Order: sequence, then C-alpha cells, then structure tokens
Amino acid sequence: MAKIQAIRGMNDILPQQIPLWQHFENTAKSLLTSYGYQEIRLPVVEKSELFHRGVGDGTDIVEKETYDFTDRGDEKLTLRPEGTAGCVRAVIEHGMVARNQVQKLWYMGPMYRYERPQKGRYRQFYQFGVEVYGHDSITQDAELLALSWRFWQALGLDKNVTLQINNLGTNEDREKYKQALISYLTPIKDQLDEDSQRRLTKNPLRILDSKNQTTQVLLENAPKLDAFLSAETKGEFQKLYTHLKALNIPVTINPHLVRGLDYYSHTVFEWVTEDLGAQGTICAGGRYNSLVENLGGPQTPAVGFAIGIERIILLLQEVQQNIKTKRCDIYVISDDKAIFNAIEFTETLRAASPLLQIEQNHTLGSFKSQFKKADKSGAKLALIIAENECDNKTCTIKFLREEKDQITLPQDEALKLIDTLVE
Ligand code: ATP
Ligand code: MG
Repeated sequence: MAKIQAIRGMNDILPQQIPLWQHFENTAKSLLTSYGYQEIRLPVVEKSELFHRGVGDGTDIVEKETYDFTDRGDEKLTLRPEGTAGCVRAVIEHGMVARNQVQKLWYMGPMYRYERPQKGRYRQFYQFGVEVYGHDSITQDAELLALSWRFWQALGLDKNVTLQINNLGTNEDREKYKQALISYLTPIKDQLDEDSQRRLTKNPLRILDSKNQTTQVLLENAPKLDAFLSAETKGEFQKLYTHLKALNIPVTINPHLVRGLDYYSHTVFEWVTEDLGAQGTICAGGRYNSLVENLGGPQTPAVGFAIGIERIILLLQEVQQNIKTKRCDIYVISDDKAIFNAIEFTETLRAASPLLQIEQNHTLGSFKSQFKKADKSGAKLALIIAENECDNKTCTIKFLREEKDQITLPQDEALKLIDTLVE
C-alpha cells in the first residue's frame, strides 16, 4: 500500500530533537515566571472573522497565508496564523481587561501559515508569545525587551542577536504618513515591484519593508515617517532607546521596520540574527494600543512579541551547545526464567528512588547482546537478575564505567545501595 506522508511544511519533531525543545521551553517558562507572567492556553482554531478584523485584511498573512475552512455546521473557521488575535479575544471574553486591569501573559503552541516551506519557514511552526495588557508606557516596552535579552543570555545566544526598534507613532500620525507615501509613490507606481504595487492601495507601509532593490532605491527620497511624529512621541522613543542602551542591549533604530501586521502603533521591534540566512528574524513584536477596542473590548493599551521556536532551535544547533540528551542510569538485564522477578525488583527500585532513570531489557537475547545494549544506553550500572539471582533473591551489580569488580548481594540490600552508586 502507498505510504501516507506528512503535509509539506508540517514537520515531525523527533525524539533526538526534543532535548533542545525542552531546554527552550523550560528556560522560557522559568524566566517568564520570574518576571511575574502567567501562562494562557488558547484554541488553535478561531472564527475567520477574528483574523480578518484582528490581523488585518490587507496583510500578507490574511491575504495569502491562512488555512481557512468551513466546518460541518457551515461556520467559517481559520487555523490560527499567530497568537495575538486569539489572546485578545480571550481576555475580552473573560473580562480580563475590564477597567484596565494589568495582565501579563505568555503562551506557546503551533501556528499555521500557507507559505513556501524552506529552512526556518514552515506551514506549521511554533511560537512562544508574550502579551501585556493595561500598561501604556515605554518602561513596559523596555521590560519586555530586557526580558527577551535575558532570555537570549540564558540560552547562550546573546552573541548571535541584535535588536532593531522603530516607532510607528499614533494611528493618526501613521494615517497622515500613509497618504504622503501614497502621493509620493503613485506617480512612479510602474517602477515598483509587483508586491509593492499591490500594497500601494492595501498596505502602503509594508512597501518600506520590500526586499526589492529597485523599490528600495525609489524609497530613498520618499517622505520619512519620523517627520510625521509628534515631539512627545519622538521624545518618548528617544528615552526608550537611551534606556535600552543603558541596559547594555545591542539595539539600533531601523526607520524601515514596519512589521507585517496592521495592529501595531508606537514601539515595534525585531530581534535578528545573521546566522540563519534569509529567515533571520527570531522574535518580533510591538505595541498595539487599539486592537482590544477594535475587537470589541474596552480601550486597553497592549504590547507583546512572538518568538519563532524553530528558528531558535536552528540557532542553538548552529552554536552547537551541549544540551544533555537522553540519560540512562541503570540498565536491567535478565533471562526468560527471571524476567518477572527482575521487573518486580525494578518497580520496587523505581518507587524507592524515583529520580533514577532505569531501562529494562525485554528482548532477553544472549547476555553478551544485553550487555552491549547496556553499554550503548550510557548507563553507569547494569543490574543482573537472572535465574541464579532469582532463586537466591539476590541481584548482581556490574560497574559499566569503572574498573571495579561486580558484586552480588541480597535484593533488599541492593535496593538501599544502588542510589549511592549513581550520584
Ligand atoms: P517573516 O518576515 O520571517 O515572514 P513575520 O513578520 O511573518 O516573519 P511574525 O508574524 O511577526 O513573523 O511572527 C513572529 C515570529 O514567528 C517571526 O519572527 C519568526 O521567528 C516566526 N515565524 C513567522 N512565520 C514563520 C514560519 N512560517 N515558519 C517558522 N517561523 C515563523
Ligand atoms: Mg511572514
């Protein structure tokens, strides 16, 4: 029969990769907890409308990348392409942002985008997201950036990443700027790349982000967003920049950074690396003070970011960190006659010393082949409970990594001793 294969761009994460994933997850969880953030778990599927209104109709994500479907009850649903919209929906639905309560949240899980799969870009990928509701201040923005910087340090990636920030101003500032940009680009529209031509009416700010050389040259003389920002906004942004410098964060201002999603205003940022080729953005986010209101909630300032976990895993592999892989302390060897006694002994040992990692041999080949497996497992000790040991209620301990004679002793004594032999 023909084999069924996984969907293109949707990957299995195999056991040998799991130690890096767990290292990421454990580091992230303990860091976020230490800053007073709480986890929220959200559905993978939402009403399509949430993303059209939340992420924005004119964005790449909603225009070209969502997995949309109709369920058996004729509801239009979408596999979430990102986490922020669903998180906002949830905090509104559960009254968590009423009267501007402060909520500091994180989540982790798969996201879905119909993109062209390549290294660091997949159709199912994992994000670690952080969102803060209820604080409208650059000090909160700075806390998030300090937190992310501490995270790269904890992962040993701080030499590989830099921070880019920009300020998109208020919605009104941006609206005025959009009009100025459209007026500048419309007469030279034909010279723009195809994507930028389309964006001119739908999402003109995104043109600044274009990777096309000709478009970039044409943009050199375009009006600059900076000129449309109020003195107050500029002053606050300068304070943020100075503060980040004081925290020793490797930060630069990138006036072209606009982010692909509609909901951002004021501070936006990306953590980038040069070690992953084209997929160099490992974390991206910013302030989104109008999204909660746009999705039917009370006016609530918000700021957040999302980390692409696969890209971090690739980076961790790149810098070749020695993350401990699978561990085994004890390997239990037996034979047909004694196997049930051996299993009973192992279970008693597991109950007495729950931190030990113990593997039981169930194939029961020759002792030679069982010892080979014991050696390969990395175990420090092999425990042998074969016919002889079973009859005498004893257990033989063989030292696999030390030049020591093996010992045979009563099983109840062995139970007390084993823990001390595996430090
Ligand atoms: P990019 O410019 O790389 O397409 P984006 O602006 O679409 O990124 P965001 O929506 O801001 O990305 O998502 C936050 C992070 O999630 C990105 O910085 C990236 O690390 C990761 N990410 C986004 N899309 C993918 C994908 N298809 N596969 C793997 N990771 C992704
Ligand atoms: Mg994208």
